[in-house]
Amino acid sequence: MIIDTHCHLNDKQYFDDLDEVLARSKAHNIIATIIPGADPRELPRAIELCEAHKELFFAVGVHPYDKERYDEALLRKHASHPKCVAIGECGLDYFRLPKDEEEKKREKEEQKKVFIAQIKLAIELDKPLIVHIRDASADSKAIMIAHEVGKVGGILHCFNASEILLELAEHNFYFGIGGVVTFKNAKKLVDILPRIPREKLLIETDGPYLTPHPHRGTRNEPYYTTLIAAKMAEILDMSQNELEKLMITNTNRLFKDKFKFI
Ligand SMILES: [Zn+2]
Ligand SMILES: [Zn+2]
Repeated sequence: MIIDTHCHLNDKQYFDDLDEVLARSKAHNIIATIIPGADPRELPRAIELCEAHKELFFAVGVHPYDKERYDEALLRKHASHPKCVAIGECGLDYFRLPKDEEEKKREKEEQKKVFIAQIKLAIELDKPLIVHIRDASADSKAIMIAHEVGKVGGILHCFNASEILLELAEHNFYFGIGGVVTFKNAKKLVDILPRIPREKLLIETDGPYLTPHPHRGTRNEPYYTTLIAAKMAEILDMSQNELEKLMITNTNRLFKDKFKFI
């Protein structure tokens, strides 16, 4: 049994065959999937799906690329939904910053503002965070520790193998491992994986992106978590069954047994 802690099932790439995606997921014992928030315009679709399928859950949040659409009242409104389990994905993404120094500075400041607002919201509402970090490890870590994220904890989704983020394990943070671990050039992540405390590991697809080997280049989906689990078990020298049990235990610890009833 596996819980996919991060899959954008409300993405248009799943519009045509979602029932088949969910059927494959069920057939492979994926007992729950969390749909993270990214662009608030796609939130109604996430809620609709969660109301129709008992194995689906969602988070409310705004991705750094969609920061202009940050609307706290909207997030608050939907955060009280019984199937809303987290705040995010929120965070910092410096991958495509403007070239102009002034603009660059402004972009970073705006991203930080929206990230901090969501950290505060998560703490106020007592929900874990789903954090997205790309090329911004040092700034992200500083903000997270300064704003006491450990009070609610959360997931460093699509963990980027950054050494300096390892310390966040001590702040109630979990490390979401995705398809990248199966890539041939994933040496950094493969090397760092055994250094993450085992009780802080989680599995995610980040579908429709980052599809694991041997399906790389096609659309990702929750049942491919089985490939990620197999690879993680191999690296950590555990049986796949043991690893899957550990992932379920970890997920339930972070989400306060939200998935125990399944
Ligand atoms: Zn992300
Ligand atoms: Zn995502």
